[in-house]
Amino acid sequence: MDVCRRPLKPSIPHNHHQKRPTPSSDAAKASDALPLPLNITNCFFFTLFFFVAYYLLDRWRDKIRTSTPLHILTFYELAAILSLIASFIYLLGFFGIDFVQSFISRYSHDVWELENDEEQIFIRDGDCSIHCPASSLITSKPKSMDIPVTPLPLKDDEELVKSVVSGDIPSYSLESKLGDCFKAASIRREALQRLTGRSLEGLPLEGFDYKSILGQCCEMPVGYVQIPVGIAGPLLLNGCEYSVPMATTEGCLVASTNRGCKAIFASGGATSVLLRDGMTRAPVVRFASAKRATELKFFLEDPLNFDTLTVVFNKSSRYARLQGIQCAIAGKNLYIRFSCSTGDAMGMNMVSKGVQNVLDFLQNDFPEMDVIGISGNFCSDKKPAAVNWIEGRGKSVVCEAVINGEVVAKVLKTTVSALVELNMLKNLTGSAVAGSLGGFNAHAANIVSAIFLATGQDPAQNVESSHCITMMEAVNNGRDLHVSVTMPSIEVGTVGGGTQLASQSACLNLLGVKGANKESPGSNSQLLATIVAGSVLAGELSLMSAIAAGQLVKSHMKYNRSSRDVTKLG
Ligand code: ADP
Repeated sequence: MDVCRRPLKPSIPHNHHQKRPTPSSDAAKASDALPLPLNITNCFFFTLFFFVAYYLLDRWRDKIRTSTPLHILTFYELAAILSLIASFIYLLGFFGIDFVQSFISRYSHDVWELENDEEQIFIRDGDCSIHCPASSLITSKPKSMDIPVTPLPLKDDEELVKSVVSGDIPSYSLESKLGDCFKAASIRREALQRLTGRSLEGLPLEGFDYKSILGQCCEMPVGYVQIPVGIAGPLLLNGCEYSVPMATTEGCLVASTNRGCKAIFASGGATSVLLRDGMTRAPVVRFASAKRATELKFFLEDPLNFDTLTVVFNKSSRYARLQGIQCAIAGKNLYIRFSCSTGDAMGMNMVSKGVQNVLDFLQNDFPEMDVIGISGNFCSDKKPAAVNWIEGRGKSVVCEAVINGEVVAKVLKTTVSALVELNMLKNLTGSAVAGSLGGFNAHAANIVSAIFLATGQDPAQNVESSHCITMMEAVNNGRDLHVSVTMPSIEVGTVGGGTQLASQSACLNLLGVKGANKESPGSNSQLLATIVAGSVLAGELSLMSAIAAGQLVKSHMKYNRSSRDVTKLG
């Protein structure tokens, strides 16, 4: 199957903004959970750096002239060397925050207590670096996928298990104490079974690379859950074919989506367009009066100030580009919704860092501003919210296809008029009766969550990513069906989070969107969003047809309740 790719270039709207290039303070955050303030003025450290460098060079010259040994240091020289190092670290942080964060997080781990003399190797896993004994790399590699067996603890492992059970060794510290992620998971798992008196048989331990999730995806692992991955497709979208991986345990889902893909393919394919691409974060700040809160609102929304705010915001990452700021007032509280493009990352960390930079900057002009929280729910992340439905969040995509009347009859086993009527009464009217928010569809969440799980997306973002309105209309004198899905907030990335794990990365690779797009940063994640929308289109077509034809219960009985003997599947 050919997989072709077409980079998409979204238009990036500009909004409101700000002035005064006096960023005398600077700060950044590693994430919501790990704040890393760098609150000393750039001017001070620049001056300090050059002053002490000049002083030390001068002293060096004097010592050479007077033949004084260089290692004999006065108190002032020692202080100057320390100041030089401190200002150098600060300046490095200013120009390369990401680097400094990874440097600091490396040393913020517990001091490794090495238990033997094995050769130590330095491993870097994304943003987290650990030391592991060489042999642990081998033992943590997959051995057998057939029979996941928990290995019995060895003699010294037995002591470790007992220490965890007794509480002498905290379970969370096993990775740092042992320097061996697989062994840590194995000890923790055994201790857990003893503490709870419950067996974890069936939850595999072996066959997973635990160091790949350390400090990045999951804490205190004791195994992993297996979810089967099925393939729907080929999905013919914008002239390219995609085999869509779906991780699910719902029988019928992949088969149904596959049928939708077949109908789209037979009708010449679907077309998908990216409308917008911007991740959002909205802190809540409080003032002593509503009047003062409005002053900040007007300041932020003044186009004259935007360029300065952009410079401050964009320091968070070379991929973060501020697009706009939207404010909402509730009394003396101000909710500031920042929107920015984030390259191929889903972007929550990136946008949060940029927001933190701006908040620190604003503190100069609004020193009484009380930052209540970097997220004030006007963002709005992982909750159903009208703001995402109306304004969009992540990627906003529209996808359409014209399904040939004959295909509707032969592949979907229904009629154009039945589909149009059902869509009007179910997806539009029925959802209105239910007071739905973004739920004007049959089962977009089914397809979105299955693709999210397969490709390492944040499954909780399925909430807003599944917002979708499905439209169906008879065209060509009623012979054919025009079907479309409009999805304003698909939140996906191809770098960061779970996307770098082996299985998820393989699924991204299948779609041709693995990792960062070097030539056109952002194209991979944008293409992934259009594939999600195309797959939703296929899923909508098929389920709606099954309901229209009265086949829903029948087909679920076939795929969900069928005999284990696959030969009986007909
Ligand atoms: P998120 O912001 O989605 O939570 P991360 O915090 O992991 O994800 O950020 C993504 C990381 O990947 C950043 O450190 C960024 O510099 C890096 N990166 C490399 N290439 C790209 C790219 N093409 N687009 C976005 N980020 C990229």
